[in-house]
Amino acid sequence: MRTNRQLSAHQATVACLDNRLSELKRVHQPLWVYDFDDASIAWANAEALALWQAESLQVLSERDLSEDMTQVVTMRLQQYQQDFLRDDSIQFREYWTLYPNGDPQPVEILFSAFRLNDGRMAMFCEAQGFQRLDNDALRSSQALLYTSVMISLFSVTGEPLYRNPAARASVRSSDEHLHEHFIEDTAMRRLDIASEQEVNFVANVHVGSGERWHDISARRCLDAVSGESAWLISEVDVSQLKATQERANFLAEHDILTGLPNRNHVSIVLEQRILQMYARGDQGALIFIDLDHFKDINDSLGHAAGDSLLVEIANRLKHLVGDTDNIARLGGDEFLLLMGPLMDKGEVDARIAKLKQHLSEPMMLQGRNVRVTPSIGVSLFPADGKNINELMRHADLAMYHAKDLGRNEAAYFTQDMSEAVDCRINLESELMVALKEKQFSAWFQPRVDVQSGEIRGAEALVRWVHPERGIVSPADFIPACEDSGLIACLGKLVLTQAVIAQRQWAQNGHALKISVNLSPVQFAGETLVEDFMQIVEDNGGDPHFLELEITESVLLGNDQATIGKLQALVDYGFHIAIDDFGTGYSNLSYLHRYPISCLKIDRSFIAQLDTAQPIIELIISMARLFDLDVVAEGVETSAQLQALKAYDCQEYQGFFYGGAVAPGEFTALLGFDGEAAA
Ligand code: C2E
Ligand code: MG
Ligand code: MG
Repeated sequence: MRTNRQLSAHQATVACLDNRLSELKRVHQPLWVYDFDDASIAWANAEALALWQAESLQVLSERDLSEDMTQVVTMRLQQYQQDFLRDDSIQFREYWTLYPNGDPQPVEILFSAFRLNDGRMAMFCEAQGFQRLDNDALRSSQALLYTSVMISLFSVTGEPLYRNPAARASVRSSDEHLHEHFIEDTAMRRLDIASEQEVNFVANVHVGSGERWHDISARRCLDAVSGESAWLISEVDVSQLKATQERANFLAEHDILTGLPNRNHVSIVLEQRILQMYARGDQGALIFIDLDHFKDINDSLGHAAGDSLLVEIANRLKHLVGDTDNIARLGGDEFLLLMGPLMDKGEVDARIAKLKQHLSEPMMLQGRNVRVTPSIGVSLFPADGKNINELMRHADLAMYHAKDLGRNEAAYFTQDMSEAVDCRINLESELMVALKEKQFSAWFQPRVDVQSGEIRGAEALVRWVHPERGIVSPADFIPACEDSGLIACLGKLVLTQAVIAQRQWAQNGHALKISVNLSPVQFAGETLVEDFMQIVEDNGGDPHFLELEITESVLLGNDQATIGKLQALVDYGFHIAIDDFGTGYSNLSYLHRYPISCLKIDRSFIAQLDTAQPIIELIISMARLFDLDVVAEGVETSAQLQALKAYDCQEYQGFFYGGAVAPGEFTALLGFDGEAAA
C-alpha cells in the first residue's frame, strides 16, 4: 500500500505527464509510461487504457502493479532501469504477456528510456500492432525473456544485434562487440570453427561486474530481420563450478594441512621436471626428509601441536626452496625436495647443511620451546636414478640409513643400501616357505639354580634349520618376521612346541618352568591372549609352568590395554618375565605397576662383571624387594657363576652350563630317556 505522501507525489507526476504527452493521446497504438520506482503506470493513452482494461487514467495509475508481479519480472524491470540509466538511447523489442485484471494479453512492446519531470528514469512502452502469436511462439518468446541463459545474436563481424535480458544484465555495455567480450583471443579462433557446426567451450569473459567463466555454445544462423548470416551465442555462468573444480584439482594434488603439493603431485610434476633436467643434462638431488621423534610430540603435546609443527616445517621449507612446486609432503612427517640444476656434490652438501640448520631451529608450540631434527636421505641424479620412483626409493633408503646413524643426520644413497633391501625381500619370501615346510623348531637352553646347579627350567629359543645354510640364528630372521607380520605364526609355533615339552617333562617328573620369548609386535596382536590360552588347552600344558618373556619397550606405553593384556595372561596362569633387563629404559616404577614375576639380567652386565657389579647387586636387591625371581643371562665362566652365588642370584643361563639344544638332547640332560618333545 502506498502512503498518502507517495500518492500525492504520484498524482503530481500523472498530471504533469498528461500535459507533456498530450499530443500522443490520439495515436492509434497503445502507449504508456511505466514508473519503475512506483511500480505503476504514470501515463497512458486511450488505446493503452483499453489494453490495460481501465476506465480512466486515474484508475489505471492507482493500480499497484507490484502486487501481483513475480520476482523474475521485478528483477527484469530493475535491469531495464539500469540499462536505460547506462544508455538512454537503447530500445528493446520484446513479447510480453500483460495481465490486466488477471486476463492474459500477449503483446509485442518496444521499450525505451523516458525521463520523468523529477529526473527519475522511467520507461516508455509502445505496444505494436499486437497480432496474436500462436501458442508455441508465444511461449518460446516468454522463455527467452525469463531464462537465466544469456542468449545473444551478433552479426558475422561481431556487432550486437540482440540480447535477451539475461545477456543484457551481464554485458559491460550494450554496444560491446563479440571479440571484446572474450578475455583471450583463443575463444574467437574457436568460434571460427562454428561456421561448420555448433561449438562448445568454456571461456573467460568480461562482464559488468568483472571477469567470469562462461560455458559457451555458438552456432551460425540467419538473422530473422536482415536475413544475413549471424552468430547465435548462448552462455551459462559456470564460474562457481569452475572454482569448485579448481579447488578439487588443487586438493587432489595438495596436502590440506600445509598447502604443499602431495604425493600425486610428485608423480606428475616432479617426474616431469626430472625428465626435463635429464634431457638438458642437468644434475640434481632428491631429498627425503623425515622428522625425528615426531610421534613423541604428537603423543605428549597432542595432535593440534603436531599439526602446527608440520605447518611450521612446511613454511620453513617453502622459505628455503622458494618454488613450492619442488616440495611435497608425502604424508605424516615425511617431506620431499627436488634440488636442481646443481653444480656439484659440494653444492648439495652446503644446501643440506642449511636445511638441517633451519629445520632444527627451536619453535614455540603451546607455550613451549620445541625443537625437532630432520633425518635426511639424498639420491643424486642422474647417478642414482633416472626417474622419480627410483630416485625416491633410493632417497628413502638413504634416509633410513641416516636414522640408523643416530638421527639428525644426512646420508647419500649407496648401492649397498639397495642390496640390503633386496636381501631383506628375499629373506621374507624364504621365511614364508620355511614356515610352510616346518623348518623352524624350538630349542631349549637350561635355566640352572645358582646354588645347587640343578636344572630349574628352560628358555625356548627358535632355530631355523635351513636346508642349505644349516642352523640359522634368530637374530638373522626375527626382525624380518616382525616387519612382515610372520612373527605371529612363528610365535604360536614356538609356544606350541614349548607347551608340548613342558607337558612331557612334567609327565616324567620334571616340574620345569619353560619360558618363551614374545616380541613387541606379537604382543600388540589383538587375539594374543585367546590364541595363547587355546594353545595351552589344546596341548595339555600347565600355564603355571609357562613364562612369557617381554622386553621393557612393551611396558613403555603404560596404557590400560597393556596392563589389561598382561593381567589376562597372568589370570590364566602364565608368568611374565622381563628379558634383557637393564638395557632398556629401566624405569623401575613399572615393576610394581605391572604383574611381573621375573627379571632376566641382560648378558652384557654379566660379561662386564667388574664394572657392572653395583648394577647387578642393585637389580637383585630390588627384585627381592618386589618379590621377583632373578635370572642372570650369558654366564660363560665359573668366575661369573661364583660372583652370582655371592650376590645371591637365584638362576642363571649360559654357555658355562650349556647353550640351547634340541628337545631330545635336553631330555637327555635331565637324565631320562623319555620320548623327546616334538
Ligand atoms: P634372548 O631372549 O635374550 O635369548 C638369549 C640369547 O642369548 C640366545 O640367543 C642364547 O643362545 C644366547 N646365549 C645364551 N647363553 C649365552 C652365553 O653364555 N653367551 C652368549 N654370548 N650368548 C648366550 P639366540 O638363541 O641367538 O636368540 C637371540 C634372541 O632372539 C633372543 O634373545 C630373543 O630375543 C630372540 N628370540 C629367540 N627365539 C625367539 C622366539 O621364539 N621368539 C621371539 N620373539 N624371539 C626369539
Ligand atoms: Mg629371552
Ligand atoms: Mg635375553
